[in-house]
Amino acid sequence: MYTTARVSYIRRFVDIWLQHSAKFFLFSALCIHALEIPVCLFLDSLPLLFLNGLSCSIYLLLLHTEKKRPDLAVTFAEVEVLFFSISASSVAGLASGFFLYLICLLAISSYLSDAVKHCSVAAVQVLDLEGIVVLLCISSNIPLKIEGVPALSDAALHILFVMNLLICVCTTLLSVYLSSQTLRRRNQELEAANRNLEYIASHDPLTGLQNRRNLYKQLESLCLDADRDGTVFCAAMADIDDFKSFNDQYGHNHGDLVLTTIASCACSRIGEKDIICRWGGEEILILFVNTSITAAKNILVQIQSDLHALTAVRNPPFFQEVTLTFGLAQHVFGQSAQELVSEVDRLLYRGKLAGKNCVVC
Ligand code: GH3
Ligand code: MG
Ligand code: MG
Repeated sequence: MYTTARVSYIRRFVDIWLQHSAKFFLFSALCIHALEIPVCLFLDSLPLLFLNGLSCSIYLLLLHTEKKRPDLAVTFAEVEVLFFSISASSVAGLASGFFLYLICLLAISSYLSDAVKHCSVAAVQVLDLEGIVVLLCISSNIPLKIEGVPALSDAALHILFVMNLLICVCTTLLSVYLSSQTLRRRNQELEAANRNLEYIASHDPLTGLQNRRNLYKQLESLCLDADRDGTVFCAAMADIDDFKSFNDQYGHNHGDLVLTTIASCACSRIGEKDIICRWGGEEILILFVNTSITAAKNILVQIQSDLHALTAVRNPPFFQEVTLTFGLAQHVFGQSAQELVSEVDRLLYRGKLAGKNCVVC
C-alpha cells in the first residue's frame, strides 16, 4: 500500500513535470550552473566561474521569457548549452568533460521537441549543429584550449570530468525517461480520443442508443448465427404514434424528452444480451437474442405500460398522450437482415392502420 502510494506520488510528479517541461528544464539548468559555481570557486577557476555566472543570468532571463514563449526560451536554452559546452571546453580543455553536454543535449532536445509545443523545428536545427561540433571536436582532434588561460591541475580536471559525467548521465537518463512518459501520455490521449470517436460514430447523441449503422452489422451476424446454429431471435420496430402533431403541440424539446424517456424505458426492460438502436427519427429497433416471440411480445407490452405509468408517477402530463406501436417478428431460416427489417416495418405499418398503440406480430 505504501509502495502504491509512492508510485502514484511519482506519477503525479512526472505528470506535473511533463505539463511544465520548459519551466522544469530551465530551472534544472539554472540549478546545475548555480551548483557549479562553488565547484569553480573551490578549483579557483575564474573563467569557469564567469561562464557559470553568465549562464545563471541567462537562465533567469529565459525563465521570465518562458511565461510567454516557452518554445523560444527552450530554443535559446538549447543554444546556451551548446555555447557553454564549447566555451567551457575552450577554457578548461576537453579533459574537463564539458563536451559531454553536447551529447546529453541530443537526448534533452529530442525530449523537449516532443514536450514543448512549436519547438520541434528549432530543436532539430540545434541537434544538427551540435552533431557537427561534436564530430569536429572529437574526430578531428581539434584542440579547443584557449591560449593564455591558466591551465587547471590534473586533479581539478578529474573533479570536473566526474562532475560533468554525473550531470550528463543523470540528465540523459531523465530525458529518456521523460520522453518515454511523454509518449505514454500521448498514446493514452490518442486511445481516449479514438474511443470517443468510435462512440460518436456508433451512437446516437440524443438517446445514447447505438445508431443504425452499428446495429446493422450485429443484425447481420445474428442472422448468420441463427441460420447456422438454429438459435431463435426476434426483431421489433417501435414508432411513436402521432409524434409529428405531438411536436407541433408541445415543441421539439418536449419531443426530445419523450424520445430519451422511451429509450431508457426500453433499455431497462430488455435483457443484457438484447440489442437496441435508434433506427430513424422516432423509430427504435430492438433485437431480442435467444428470445421467443411470445416472451418478446411480453417485454414490449411492459415497455408500453411503463411509459403509461410514467404519467402517474411524475409530470409532465403530456406523457399521457404518448403511445407506441410495435411491429414484431421472429427471424426465420434463411432470412436476411434486410428482409427481417422489412418484415417488422410491414407489421408496424399494419399496427398503424389498425389504430396504433399496439404490438403486431
Ligand atoms: P404515426 O403515428 O403514423 O407514426 O405519425 P407520426 O406523426 O409519428 O409520423 P412519423 O412517424 O412519420 O413522424 C415522424 C416525426 O418524428 C417527424 C418529426 O417531427 C419527429 N421526429 C423525428 N426525429 C425527432 C427528434 O429527434 N426529436 C423530435 N422532437 N422529433 C423528432
Ligand atoms: Mg410516428
Ligand atoms: Mg416514424
